[in-house]
Amino acid sequence: MEDYIQQLNKQQQDAVLYTDGPQLVIAGAGSGKTRVLTYKIVHLLRLGYEPWRILALTFTNKAAREMRERIEGMTGAATASKLWMGTFHSIFARLLRSNAERLGFKSNFTIYDTSDSKSLIKTIIKDMELDDKIYKPSVVMSAISSAKNALISPQRYAISADIMEADRRSKRERLHEIYRIYRDRCFVAGAMDFDDLLYYTNILLRDNPDVLRHYQEFFRYVLVDEYQDTNFAQHLIISQICRDSHNLCVVGDDAQSIYSFRGANIRNILNLKKSYDNLRIFKLEQNYRSTQNIINAANSLIAKNTEQIPKNVFSKNDEGSRIEVVQSFSDYEEAYLVANRISQLKMRQHDGYDEYAVLYRTNAQSRILEESLRKRNIPYRIYGGLSFYQRKEVKDAIAYFRLSVNPDDDEAFKRVINYPKRGIGETTVNKILRAAIDNNVSAWRVLADTGEYDLGLNGGTVKKLTAFRDMIQEFIEMNRNGENAETVARHIITRTALLSSLLSDRTPESISKQENLQELLAGIQEFVSGKQEEGSDGTTLTDFLGEVSLATDQDTQDSTEASITLMTVHAAKGLEFNNVFIVGVEEELFPSAMSCDSLAAIEEERRLLYVAITRAKLNCVISYASSRFRNGQTKTCSPSRFLKDIDRTYLHLATGNDIVRPDNFINPIDNYRETSAKERRRSFSHPLVDQQEPTTYAHKSVTAYGDEDLHTIEQLATGMTIEHSRFGRGVITDIDTAAGDARIEVSFNTLGVKKLLLKFARFKII
Ligand code: ATP
Ligand code: MG
Repeated sequence: MEDYIQQLNKQQQDAVLYTDGPQLVIAGAGSGKTRVLTYKIVHLLRLGYEPWRILALTFTNKAAREMRERIEGMTGAATASKLWMGTFHSIFARLLRSNAERLGFKSNFTIYDTSDSKSLIKTIIKDMELDDKIYKPSVVMSAISSAKNALISPQRYAISADIMEADRRSKRERLHEIYRIYRDRCFVAGAMDFDDLLYYTNILLRDNPDVLRHYQEFFRYVLVDEYQDTNFAQHLIISQICRDSHNLCVVGDDAQSIYSFRGANIRNILNLKKSYDNLRIFKLEQNYRSTQNIINAANSLIAKNTEQIPKNVFSKNDEGSRIEVVQSFSDYEEAYLVANRISQLKMRQHDGYDEYAVLYRTNAQSRILEESLRKRNIPYRIYGGLSFYQRKEVKDAIAYFRLSVNPDDDEAFKRVINYPKRGIGETTVNKILRAAIDNNVSAWRVLADTGEYDLGLNGGTVKKLTAFRDMIQEFIEMNRNGENAETVARHIITRTALLSSLLSDRTPESISKQENLQELLAGIQEFVSGKQEEGSDGTTLTDFLGEVSLATDQDTQDSTEASITLMTVHAAKGLEFNNVFIVGVEEELFPSAMSCDSLAAIEEERRLLYVAITRAKLNCVISYASSRFRNGQTKTCSPSRFLKDIDRTYLHLATGNDIVRPDNFINPIDNYRETSAKERRRSFSHPLVDQQEPTTYAHKSVTAYGDEDLHTIEQLATGMTIEHSRFGRGVITDIDTAAGDARIEVSFNTLGVKKLLLKFARFKII
């Protein structure tokens, strides 16, 4: 038997070795589902499947990256890099780019993020002169999103009696028009939103039998992780692609289904049986992640749900210590106690900070935790909150990049037409946008052909518009000429004065904006040099945008410094840590207030807590506070009902003796609230500065290596240890001079083997 198979238990082996048809692996947390998928891919490669014909879908980019690294370690980077592996969104964006013209799009279509979509929806609501208290943009957005995820087009929406009746009842009978206009404006702008990536993939496969056939034959095997959280649109794409081959392996756990608010449906798992009568179901039962105590506690909690597929999960690991339940007076004290406990545990266990996670129900809870961690000098990283690419100054720069790649992109156009200020007033912009809507063209087309539209502008304005147009045209030309992303981006940032307009202002806010722009440039530089080193020619701004538009908060922050992780429970899915702290386990927070009046919603919250607890390998701490500052006021809180669901045998209720409370902490609530309210107001008015400071971002390491770190073949030999600017240390295993461009093969300590093009690779010889 091959060695890698022996790293699996019998049940896992059966699941990996089975390749005779559709297969569902359904099993509890930590039982090795993701491991089975990873090993199965390796197994398929050993059987001779070509890597580029294996499609593997994960829920987050981080999960995809981890899986790829694992496979790289077993098969080498060359093979692993050819797999079609990524999130649904990134994979189908790629597929859509190759087939965009079938849908009337260009392959350089823009991807609108949530704030672009919202801004467009607001404009439409205003244009239609509707009341935005009734037509709340967020409500409209989620209605459109639900429609798309159920594959309901604007036409079908308008003739669906049920939907129209529901909209009438909520006094939003013109929602269908907003949906249609939104769809049309996105189309004219050459843009797709996140939901469109799935929606249009479905349309593409439905309306183009030859394209469908092509992918059905092209993908020899399809594998999906976290299947319980797929929605209808995703489920349908998978079913279409695997319709004939039946080479499908999906893994999931109904007890961890936590995305029904985004249209995910556990029934997709159950319905698989209906789609494939030859479906084989595999179960895994042994949990390798957690102590017996943690697993027993989690099992006792989830048993309280009425709706679930029965399954057995046990751990043969140590019994471990009980889950510690900590009560505190306030959220402030909670944060203090968590930081304290982390320090204590760390001293006792000598494990790294990256083995600690603090999980919360809502992003807003992170700020106060940050404060207390900072005070104790505990390094941390936040996943979530404002991601780097969502910051205003970064979005401004990216809007220019987008416009230079796809000038029809209306949201980018609106963002920068008068930023930095160039005296183009709102009235002028509105005239252009009006003409664009009336003539069903993009704003850029109106600007480019001003002569054709009677905009009634005065000479001065026309001059300013022409200058703007010529500038954008210049950027477009640079892209057309194939200049690399870094050259174009630097030129754009200089030419538009994005950076220099900030320089005169020395406020902390402005300085942090300048740093962010510098960091963006460094990121692009790194992107280009990375591609060059790999010998890939995908170095243009289009390529760069393709990557960042799908980056999520979780993906932009990959600092190498070991730090504890702060994230929402949703973001923690699939991950594991030695020590997990779950904070704010209180009524109306966890379960959330919104879920309290529906049994189904409460069960989803319970699953969410199950996910949180099962992230822990060794220690799990659950905490709740008696008072908490939320939505602008201090509220009294009571412990979550879920605490009663967990079998008491597995809990340790921490008492006063276990807990070291802060010094001078006699009447915490009174003492604290005075200052904290003020502090909060102050920091809320500087969210960027406030959030930026403690967070570390990926693109920082470039400047340390210069041209002196480029090497020629004569300087190198196999066996030498090098330190690369991004990949860290490794040993040269091969030098290839045969090809036109000399390459070296390096086995990196953490990343496995990589081939680097010598003329671009920057490293130091150790
Ligand atoms: P989740 O439901 O949380 O996504 P999962 O079922 O995907 O969990 P994995 O993440 O694949 O579980 O595995 C949990 C942990 O157990 C991982 O650290 C994995 O490497 C380890 N593990 C799984 N199977 C084995 C095995 N047979 N031998 C040793 N370790 C294993
Ligand atoms: Mg998993």
